[in-house]
Amino acid sequence: MKMQSVFLRVLVLIDIIKDLIRMSELKKYDVAIIGGGIGGLMAAYRLKNNNKNIRIVITERGNVLEKRHCPAGRNSTCIHCKTCSITSGFAGAGAFSDGKFNLGTSYGGTLGEELGDTVANQYIGEVDEILKKYCTSGDPKVYMSNQDLKLKCLQNNLRLLDMNVKHLGTDKNFLTMQNLIKAIEHSGTETLSCYDCESVEKSDSGYILNYTNGEKIFAEKIIIATGRSGANFVADFCRSFGVEMHSNYVDIGVRVEMKDIIWKEFSDKIYEPKILYKTKTFEDRCRMFCFNKGGLVSAENNHGIITANGHSFAEEDKKTENCNFAILSSIRFTEPFNQPTEYVESISRLANMIGNGNVIVQRFGDLVRGRRTNDHRLAQNTVEPTLKATAGDISLVLPHRILTNIIETIYALDKVAPGTANDDTLLYGCESKYYSIRPEFKNNKFELCDNVYIIGDGSGICRGLSQSGAMGIYVADCISKK
Ligand SMILES: Cc1cc2nc3c(=O)[nH]c(=O)nc-3n(C[C@H](O)[C@H](O)[C@H](O)COP(=O)(O)OP(=O)(O)OC[C@H]3O[C@@H](n4cnc5c(N)ncnc54)[C@H](O)[C@@H]3O)c2cc1C
Repeated sequence: MKMQSVFLRVLVLIDIIKDLIRMSELKKYDVAIIGGGIGGLMAAYRLKNNNKNIRIVITERGNVLEKRHCPAGRNSTCIHCKTCSITSGFAGAGAFSDGKFNLGTSYGGTLGEELGDTVANQYIGEVDEILKKYCTSGDPKVYMSNQDLKLKCLQNNLRLLDMNVKHLGTDKNFLTMQNLIKAIEHSGTETLSCYDCESVEKSDSGYILNYTNGEKIFAEKIIIATGRSGANFVADFCRSFGVEMHSNYVDIGVRVEMKDIIWKEFSDKIYEPKILYKTKTFEDRCRMFCFNKGGLVSAENNHGIITANGHSFAEEDKKTENCNFAILSSIRFTEPFNQPTEYVESISRLANMIGNGNVIVQRFGDLVRGRRTNDHRLAQNTVEPTLKATAGDISLVLPHRILTNIIETIYALDKVAPGTANDDTLLYGCESKYYSIRPEFKNNKFELCDNVYIIGDGSGICRGLSQSGAMGIYVADCISKK
């Protein structure tokens, strides 16, 4: 009996020694940031500014910014890369975006509700100041809100969300992010690309982060900045650490493309119209947003599911004759259903099935006449598609309620921008945005459990560059003050 207990003690001791050796071999940091999008970058920037001796690492699933290339750019067809270069890599989902920075809290997230508008606006202003430092290619244009357009929309049951918007454009945005990343690296923060964090374990004095490439690192504190593409990682983390998750809403619908001139009055005056509509039949909320003047419709790979999106370039020679925007219908599920992300994914997967692995495109005229679009009709369309998608029938994919909402919204928008409901308007399906996981925070520092913080789109609070960056700076300040 005695021998057995001595033997067990030796085994325990061996385990402890093994752990100590393992720990001593691990790279150690004060703060590990998971995700190198604007949230993670801004957090790293501020942490170093607050304390230049702090040891920080940013680990990113995707590639370094300069090596992020979408192969679909050359032939417009998504080839289903394991890690999507559009959404993943340093500078995050916003790397190739149009670089529209919303200078307020009216949209782009609910940080104003969480922190109060005054504090949230202060941090949004600080993001703007930091970006100004690294935007070395001239002052970007700021579009101010417009009362006449607001009234015109109100008179047609539409609510125009207005706010001042700073527009960098894709190229200036890319250069600004590149300069910011260089400055962060120069300050001594380590950046690791192709580091996909798989899981997190609690250790005595902090956390061990496990990566799919077999690497492990140790950090006292963690900032989860994994954006929308990291939704599964956040869900797994919450399950492992007993953090409650609340069901948030999901948005699903289409990317709409038409001649640029139809929305010129709006885009000239406010650059990006964002409009809300309460649909007649179901009284659901539909929103028009993510407007791209002279832009291109693009395909996005979300873990093998191809969805539509859009972007545009600032340079005149890269502009197309078209504009595009999203029209999405919001759904908030109630008990007992608790898989909103899976619901949206299965609709998008259905679109891919019908589209032979691709996004579907349909003329609005065909949709309302109840017939599919075919290559012949598409070839004769006055609006030339900027994405090579499969001509098909969106009504075979979207549930009746969502489709009805979208059609009603297109007719409502036609009243303020006549031509929106033209037969030749193109609809690409599906486009979706999900903010379905909303973890329960321990406090107003957005702490999930001891020394683990969450920021940006992945927190369920942000939906845009400015607020994600602002949340990063805010959490960095909370950590520095601790
Ligand atoms: C095409 C497009 C255009 C857009 N245009 C605009 C715009 O003009 N204005 C605007 O305000 N917003 C825009 N947005 C939204 C904006 O990009 C996001 O709101 C913003 O990027 C969120 O920042 P984030 O840091 O929270 O997350 P992200 O930018 O998504 O960054 C998260 C990063 O974490 C990485 N990651 C995820 N999981 C892991 C893991 N397990 N391990 C390691 N790394 C991980 C991802 O690869 C990603 O790079 C656009 C989005 C897209 C896709």
